[in-house]
Amino acid sequence: MRARFFDPDGSRYGLPTYPYGWARVWDADLATRAQLRELGLRPGGQEPVAQLMWRSRRAAHSGGVRIAWLYRISRALPVREMTAARRAAVEAALRARRTCRACRTEHDYCLPTSLQGCCPPCFEAAQAAEIAAVWAEETTAA
Ligand SMILES: [Zn+2]
Repeated sequence: MRARFFDPDGSRYGLPTYPYGWARVWDADLATRAQLRELGLRPGGQEPVAQLMWRSRRAAHSGGVRIAWLYRISRALPVREMTAARRAAVEAALRARRTCRACRTEHDYCLPTSLQGCCPPCFEAAQAAEIAAVWAEETTAA
């Protein structure tokens, strides 16, 4: 029954045809649309280069045979294209994470969240000022 769907040169079905689940064995570069999706890819305008065929009761209207087209992974494109707008949004988010909220300096590294959005010198200065303020309060109260 499997041999019925095995037509690697496409002489019987027009497209190279493999039984369900076998295509990757014959050609590791082939994937269905769903398999591309799992890889974060989409066909990207390419025509199917082969197909999978298998028997299915859900396909009674087409002789009990279902088909899934196969595409070349090497010619697929990312699902989400990096548009200029998306790149700008990513860059703005990174810039915000690099910019100290105290001195507004943009550093060449992302500021650790433990410093509450400050660069290390500003954080230390803020802490020193806080300690000094507490110290001053305690000495005047005494
Ligand atoms: Zn700073």
